[in-house]
Amino acid sequence: MPQSILEIDLTALEHNVDYLRSKLTPGVKLMAVVKAYAYGSEPAAVAQKLMSLGVDYFAVAFVEEGVTLRDAGITAPILVLHPQPSGFDTIIERCLEPNLYSFRVLQGFIASAKAKQQQNYPVHLKFNTGLNRLGFKKGDEPKILETLAATDAIMVRSLFSHLVASEDLSERDFTLKQISDFKEIASHMLEKLDYKPFLHQSNTSAILNFPEAQFDMVRAGIGLYGYGNNPEEDKNLIPVASLKSVISQIHTIEKGESVGYNRGFFAERQMRTATIPLGHADGLSRAYGKGKGYVYINGKKAEIVGNVCMDMIMVNVTEIDCQEGDEVEVFGKLSSASRLSATIGSIPYELLTAISQRVLRIIRE
Ligand SMILES: *Cc1c(COP(=O)(O)O)cnc(C)c1O
Repeated sequence: MPQSILEIDLTALEHNVDYLRSKLTPGVKLMAVVKAYAYGSEPAAVAQKLMSLGVDYFAVAFVEEGVTLRDAGITAPILVLHPQPSGFDTIIERCLEPNLYSFRVLQGFIASAKAKQQQNYPVHLKFNTGLNRLGFKKGDEPKILETLAATDAIMVRSLFSHLVASEDLSERDFTLKQISDFKEIASHMLEKLDYKPFLHQSNTSAILNFPEAQFDMVRAGIGLYGYGNNPEEDKNLIPVASLKSVISQIHTIEKGESVGYNRGFFAERQMRTATIPLGHADGLSRAYGKGKGYVYINGKKAEIVGNVCMDMIMVNVTEIDCQEGDEVEVFGKLSSASRLSATIGSIPYELLTAISQRVLRIIRE
């Protein structure tokens, strides 16, 4: 095994698509969110598999991510969630579909589309219903409609919004207000347009918790990759990515000796440590050091001893029957990335997307 690998299980991906689809009202489209290297996995292989499963749409955050998918032969429509005007020419050249989230980008994109002699170029309009991150606000509809009426260079394919706390049922009232505000905005737009853009507002947790917010399409990210933002839903999904490594060396440490940089750990008794070729340069944050994080070796939990190095960690294997060369699982089917990330107050989104490109991706069907 080369140092550390990230195994990508496409059968697990298929299971997760089936599970999320089972939650959808018939006819609701599925958009697969494959931003950030498909949540740290492998965007080309994952998107090709998703395309073979018939997902309707893809979403990426940035223009270059859309270009990567086009280069990988993805022909399905691709929504770019967060474009800058500097990327508009590439968007048009590669048939990507921009989210237009402000008057500045709306007008900028109309100018780019006109300059490239486009007619009815598909775009998406985002409305801010409480996240206060990107989007037009309620009340902008008349001015947007006026801008749209003055050009035939673009055509609005969809209207959308994003929920703030769909995974948190204590914020249910806030979410319901976001849903009703979005309905109201959409009705103002649909009333005045002579064609019908489709609507979408749900991420993974909204698919699971708010069936009333499915509209015409849902945008699934983390659920595709096997995490449901709560332990119950995690059981219904299968992690797609498994971070695996190997034991390079085993040391016997005597009572009173230290382990690792800055003497981050002192042995209180004689013990054994295993050195693993995986460090903060691979995406395992230094915050996992000093006993917070752990790996699994031969089915047993081995906590990280001392500080995480750039290319290595040392783990406590005193009570574990293991040898140099044995396989190590950092997260995956045995050891969930949601539990591991929680040990440092983080979330699986961050742990998965942090795995650096140095870690070899291996695709398994
Ligand atoms: C990332 C993202 C999603 C996916 O969210 P998950 O919680 O991963 O399902 C959906 N919509 C937008 C706008 C996003 O930025």
